[in-house]
Amino acid sequence: MGLFSFTQDVAIDLGTANTIISYNGKIVVDEPSVVAIDGQKKMIAVGEKAKQMHEKTNPNIQTIRPLRDGVIADFYACEMMMRGFIEKVNMGSKLFTPSLRMVIGVPYGSTEVELRAVRDSAEHAGARDVYMIFEPMAAALGAGLDVEAPEGNMVIDIGGGTSEIACISLGGIVCSESINVAGDVFTNDIQNYIRQQHGIKIGERTAEEIKCAIGAAVPELENEPEDYVFTGSNMLTNLPQTVTLNYSEIAYALEGSLAQLDEALMQVLSDMPAELYSDVVKNGVYIAGGGALIKGLTKRLSDKTGLQFHIAEDPLRAIVRGTNLALKNMDRYSFLIRA
Ligand code: ADP
Ligand code: MG
Repeated sequence: MGLFSFTQDVAIDLGTANTIISYNGKIVVDEPSVVAIDGQKKMIAVGEKAKQMHEKTNPNIQTIRPLRDGVIADFYACEMMMRGFIEKVNMGSKLFTPSLRMVIGVPYGSTEVELRAVRDSAEHAGARDVYMIFEPMAAALGAGLDVEAPEGNMVIDIGGGTSEIACISLGGIVCSESINVAGDVFTNDIQNYIRQQHGIKIGERTAEEIKCAIGAAVPELENEPEDYVFTGSNMLTNLPQTVTLNYSEIAYALEGSLAQLDEALMQVLSDMPAELYSDVVKNGVYIAGGGALIKGLTKRLSDKTGLQFHIAEDPLRAIVRGTNLALKNMDRYSFLIRA
């Protein structure tokens, strides 16, 4: 043991929507990637508490999502957020400052500068030893796939800001596509639809709730969710108005964005070497990230492609699970990045 027993292992999924931290193998933080700051740029809340304030702030408070489209859009806020979360983790060990060894999931195709930014944020937040892993690789590990096998493993990770589709073989990404169409865009589609079709003002948080309750990728589901009833302000009269929304309507609202996802998927399939394609036909495609929970998504995608689709177990946590596996097998896996 000796000196190094003070090293603590931290795996982080620094997502555009949610940050999940696993500390010595246990999930200790699972909160929205949001910080709230005051007029002096001092952090007043982080995570769930900050998200509660979103769209309900007064002029002295600002809520920030530091990551946009999969990359750090606001460095200062990102660092503050990471520090806030890491402080929550460290609470138990006031006696000594452990040296933190971190693996962080980053989008595939991050530039050198973007990797640096993640690394800097982590170091400023207290990390001693920082490694990164590409998220599609982490998603595949988290879905329980043998990423080192000479076999085509395909994953789709639909997060808040980006959807990444990748085919993996022999511990590397063979072909991939990344689009900025994911959960945030779906939420936005629902807001626009409700404004245009029902003439009602609707905030982001309500639209997200509707998406999670009745968001569908096909107009007809086997297990139909109950209609969603909500009251908003009529845009013409400014009086309260109640509407009842059906999931088929939401499928209609999401159609344009989902079609872009179909297209990206078809692109990866067409780029894929034939031998790997046969493996994917045999093994199916795994979907991770919160977007995997859109109802009827596997049906939609298999109707389009003729392939089988599986939702990874607990898809919102698949990336952090995979990141933690990478951390535990650090000596074995050559695909960890040390930018
Ligand atoms: P990121 O990795 O970018 O942080 P996540 O994988 O955590 O993203 O997924 C977050 C996204 O998933 C959000 O846009 C959220 O609204 C969406 N989401 C979560 N649960 C559901 C659900 N049940 N149905 C549809 N979308 C969902
Ligand atoms: Mg993610």
